Amino acid sequence: VSIDLSSVLHETAREHLARTHANLIGGVWRAPETDERIPVVDPATGQVIASIPASGAPDIDHAVAAARTALETGAWPAMPGHARGRLLRRLAELIEAEAGPLAQLEALDTGRPVFECQIVDLPGSIAMLDYMSGWASKIEGETIPVSLPPGTFHAYTEREPVGVVGVIVPWNYPLELAIWRIAPALAAGCTVVLKPAEQTSLTALRLGALIERAGFPPGVVNIVTGYGATAGAALAGHDGVDAVSFTGSTVTGRAIVQAATGNLKRVFLELGGKSPMVVMPDADLDQAIAGVAGAIFFSSGQICTAGSRLIVHDAIHDRMVDGIRRIAEGLKVGHGLDPETRLGPLVSDVQLGRVLSHLDDGAREGAAYVTGGHRLGTGGCFVAPTIATDVAPHARLLREEIFGPVLCVQRFSDADMAVRLANDTPYGLHASVWTRDLSTAHLMARRIKAGNVCINTHNFFDPAFPMGGYKQSGWGRAAGHAALEHYTEMKGIVAKL
Ligand code: NAD
Repeated sequence: VSIDLSSVLHETAREHLARTHANLIGGVWRAPETDERIPVVDPATGQVIASIPASGAPDIDHAVAAARTALETGAWPAMPGHARGRLLRRLAELIEAEAGPLAQLEALDTGRPVFECQIVDLPGSIAMLDYMSGWASKIEGETIPVSLPPGTFHAYTEREPVGVVGVIVPWNYPLELAIWRIAPALAAGCTVVLKPAEQTSLTALRLGALIERAGFPPGVVNIVTGYGATAGAALAGHDGVDAVSFTGSTVTGRAIVQAATGNLKRVFLELGGKSPMVVMPDADLDQAIAGVAGAIFFSSGQICTAGSRLIVHDAIHDRMVDGIRRIAEGLKVGHGLDPETRLGPLVSDVQLGRVLSHLDDGAREGAAYVTGGHRLGTGGCFVAPTIATDVAPHARLLREEIFGPVLCVQRFSDADMAVRLANDTPYGLHASVWTRDLSTAHLMARRIKAGNVCINTHNFFDPAFPMGGYKQSGWGRAAGHAALEHYTEMKGIVAKL
């Protein structure tokens, strides 16, 4: 595919691409301590469209120091909750006003259809800022009736910000994930150092400009771009960081936990998944077919909660597979910036290579590809939407997260077998059950081991709805008031009367 960026992009997006990007540290756009740059590549065409700093440990040191100063001596600790809330709301308004260019930058950088960025990433970012802006003034303690005679002691709790938070995010939903992690931290009164993914830092850098414009005090949010092994590792291991909020792969999650042992910082992890979708024989088939296809092909499957395993009753197997195949084959493939595109490229050559290697292994292990199973074209990172049947229970295709548009189908004959298959995974992030029967729906929801179980829908996210993983899908919950707990310490105070 080819596209003329100069005619398609909004002026704000064009200007942002043309900038010499630096890090935001202590309210100043600061050149990194190294000259090394990371090329920013359009994954639909392979063209280099910009570059960002390949920052290292010294830059992280500066950013952590700025966050520490803002936490302890700046305007932030003196600011009441409602004023912090107002800043979050102001930021939401600025993002809303710039939603068009931000959606374009996201589509260009990730390869994902701009249509998706407009209907998910931008509204989701704004909604989270709005939601957390309300909590900023409602973080409360409790009075505790201790077990001594009433009137002898007065005991109560307060919640204090945990401190400086390191936020490390992946490349699939760069702006939205950055905001979903930063907003609760700021609402709780913490300061932040954000390290976006090296493949997709453009919208995080633009977010930095909007944070400045909103009037956040300097150093409250610092943004440092760079590779995971250098900038990311320096942040995760930094003794000046009190908590790290990591979103990414399970493998890197383990490295983060190890890096955090130095000062035993708090660790919050949102990791990978291999999420099952159980379709019962009484399901509304049209709804289930559309829902399952959307759950795996949206964002080319590059969603942590992607419905990558279809567990379907024997009686409806063939009709389900055929319906999903038709949708897969009808998706309009193209450049993410084309508003008609429904399937863009994967984010990078590296990701393309990973997905193709899974597909090769799958074929060797006996999977049958009803559709797809191969790359599309040769110029960009496109993979055909794929449906794999007859996948062996121990196949890598079925057990590992692929993060591509690849659906593995398994059959079941009774509900116990469906639950067994659904839970046969080291992950436990998201799941769905498709049925018209209320009791079946709720009983299955109880038995499936996942942080979220959806009934007759999949990939449900809301700022008020806690999300997170069981098993190797993570620690803690993002969104909802549960998210605030990661960013506060509870202090118990007692007075002898
Ligand atoms: P990744 O783990 O390779 O990278 C994620 C981030 O971690 C990037 O910013 C990267 O630079 C950084 N990083 C890499 N190595 C590091 C290290 N040693 N120390 C510190 N930081 C390091 O993941 P990815 O391939 O970019 O993203 C895909 C993965 O993210 C998938 O597994 C997906 O499931 C997961 N994900 C999870 C969620 C969720 O909410 N659960 C959301 C999106 C993505």
